[in-house]
Amino acid sequence: MSKYRLTLMGAADHRCSRYHGENNFMKNARIAWLRLVVLIILSICAGANCAYSQSTNSSNTPREAGEPYPNMPSIAPIGVRIDKYLDVPASAKGPAIDSAKGYRLQDLGKGLYMITDNAYQSMFLVYDRGVVVVDAPPGYAAHIPQAIAEVSDKPITHIVYSHSHIDHIGGAKALGGQPVIIAQEETLRLLKRAADPNRPLPTVTFSDKYTLRVGNQVLELSYHGNAHEPGNIFISAPAQRVLMVVDVVFPGWMPWRRFALAQDIPGYFAQVEEIRKMGWETLVGGHVARTGTHADVDVQAEFNQDVKQAAATALATTKPGEGLNPLDKANPWAGFDNYIDRVAAQCVNTLAPKWSSRLAGFDIYIWDQCFAMEQSLRIE
Ligand SMILES: [Zn+2]
Repeated sequence: MSKYRLTLMGAADHRCSRYHGENNFMKNARIAWLRLVVLIILSICAGANCAYSQSTNSSNTPREAGEPYPNMPSIAPIGVRIDKYLDVPASAKGPAIDSAKGYRLQDLGKGLYMITDNAYQSMFLVYDRGVVVVDAPPGYAAHIPQAIAEVSDKPITHIVYSHSHIDHIGGAKALGGQPVIIAQEETLRLLKRAADPNRPLPTVTFSDKYTLRVGNQVLELSYHGNAHEPGNIFISAPAQRVLMVVDVVFPGWMPWRRFALAQDIPGYFAQVEEIRKMGWETLVGGHVARTGTHADVDVQAEFNQDVKQAAATALATTKPGEGLNPLDKANPWAGFDNYIDRVAAQCVNTLAPKWSSRLAGFDIYIWDQCFAMEQSLRIE
């Protein structure tokens, strides 16, 4: 076992003591005991010339982790187990779902409803002769007809796809019938490629804007370019003052890892700003336990700017090659890995004091955000 792992255990103990109030004496005793066990194992290995010491001498055998970088954050990096994640702040929570039904229906006004299982969100709009469904997450799509039946006896006549991802529309086929399916043309392209029977191809596509008028109800669909993925659209219900944009803003939460897997990070930052400037009262983000407000979007935009600043400063002030094993000097990818790791560590350290208790999931995805940000700043 390497010193690095021992140090990580020390770091994990540190988190334990901070969040569970573990007694310092017990903590120190446990670390001392672990160190003793490791020392005994290492001395037995040295005496017996065991497989471990032989393997670390071979240049073609992956080595164990080395000494940690200086000033490693106490938040475990990617791939290291976290003993106890930070508590979810009250501001990130929403109303409970009905456990018997498995979903929650939220009235957004004038015939528009949000359905959620408190992890995913979709909508439906009731008009005089039918219902327009917006997204069908496979996790609860089987409940969508039941949710509609709570407020209407009309059939599903239309489905709008926010984007092509299976986790948001993979329940479309199961809704049955022959609905008109509307999506941006890039979504059609991606769905043709996916050839997934659970995601039927759109029957109506558009490039920039599409206004869906059904009875006296209106949905305005618009495409603002690539950010999360090509074809991801803004869905506005002007009479209800509701805007739905999926996988961009996560009210109360950190974005999912790497800015929710944004395929274009500058585009992603720009769309958060666009959402911020638009007129609406309720944001449906496609995820988490509640709808969003303008204050949520302001927080997300502020977080984005802070990550950008922290990563830019870390890129400018971190010296390449420091602490790199001289045997790796001719390996350019090793040099980058060493540099980028230290940039990300500095970025995490910069952001933790302000943000760790402000956005849920900070400890889970902050390393991912810092890696994605420094990568975007270097090459985009
Ligand atoms: Zn998505």
